[in-house]
Amino acid sequence: MRIRIFVIQFLLAVILWDVLPASAERLPVIFGARVGVHPDSTRLVFEMDRAVPYKIFTLADPFRVVIDFPEVSWLVSEARMRASDGLVSRFRFGLFQPGNSRVVVDVAAPASVTKHFLLPPKKSKPRRFVIDLKPVSREVFFAGARSAQSENWGKRKRSFKTVNRPKTPRRKDGLRRVVVLDPGHGGVDPGTVGVTGSYEKHITLAVAKAAKKVMEASGRYRVVLTRTQDVYVRLRDRFEIAHNNKAEMFISLHADSIGSRKIRGGSIYTLSDKASDKEAEDLAQRENKSDIIAGADLSGYASEVSRVLIDLAQNDTNRESWHLAKMLVSELKKSIKLLRTSHRYAGFAVLKSPNIPSTLIELGYLSNRIDEKNLKSPHYRIGIGQALLRAADRYFTRKALNNRS
Ligand SMILES: [Zn+2]
Repeated sequence: MRIRIFVIQFLLAVILWDVLPASAERLPVIFGARVGVHPDSTRLVFEMDRAVPYKIFTLADPFRVVIDFPEVSWLVSEARMRASDGLVSRFRFGLFQPGNSRVVVDVAAPASVTKHFLLPPKKSKPRRFVIDLKPVSREVFFAGARSAQSENWGKRKRSFKTVNRPKTPRRKDGLRRVVVLDPGHGGVDPGTVGVTGSYEKHITLAVAKAAKKVMEASGRYRVVLTRTQDVYVRLRDRFEIAHNNKAEMFISLHADSIGSRKIRGGSIYTLSDKASDKEAEDLAQRENKSDIIAGADLSGYASEVSRVLIDLAQNDTNRESWHLAKMLVSELKKSIKLLRTSHRYAGFAVLKSPNIPSTLIELGYLSNRIDEKNLKSPHYRIGIGQALLRAADRYFTRKALNNRS
């Protein structure tokens, strides 16, 4: 009997692992919306991760512009949606019916759609969907065409209606799980400097903010950042923030640089008293210098932070960190380029939380032009956030299944 239960749980785990990331991945994401006001028109721009079919129509009394998409994930902030500008009073978003997401734009006057088109990604700009609205008289509104659609609207995939929403087991108390993201460096400690002069501290903060947005939009996580501004935070304080917030996961975000400008790719690290390789050991030494660079007073705990670790092989937290790192590797490699040896380990001070599974991600090399350019792109950062969300979903699903046995 016990074996049968185990087999069922194992199969369930395999099925969930298979279904979760795939379905989470298939849903297109709209992560930005802007309104541009011109003398004779108002332009609506939606930023998205891929081209989607759409249908637009207008309604009267009150006047509205309605945009239908296949089911999409919507990451536009409430504040953005309430900001009125030009013809646009505000907009709303919701699932109209399974497989069909809808944006309703409240307009201040009768409006007709004069242009609508998709723009491919260009430089640091993501893929965009543009709609131009022109104010018209009531008579013109009722006399004119009141709907438009993309050529492929009729052929859109309807399979989204059977989308498997991640059913990650929630906490027993129904609360969202707490994840702490730690943007590396900050303030007087800039971290590494990129090939065109970007600072690691700015990149890590921007990635953390994007990931927070993506993860919280799922409704399953509360994401706490160890810093939300360009300010220095001591390494030890970073994992204490996780402890104080009763976090169940700690992920430190960094970007590296290296002598050879050709090398690119990210890697994921867990704590170990023995480094997996010389580069990992050197990296940990560089990252651990943050407190020294910032001129922090380390008296009192310097010896503790730098003490030689006991063998952590039997440590539960370390084992959990290892699982988390494995899932981060498999999800991140769908979104970003990773080094061939993508999971490594070394003695990072910031990962020394005794009871919270912790990993450190080097998102890429700022010494490489492509990695630096990617990490400066808002669209790319959203992709990293989606990978972290998928990895967290898998991690907690596995954990819940294990706890039930
Ligand atoms: Zn760093």
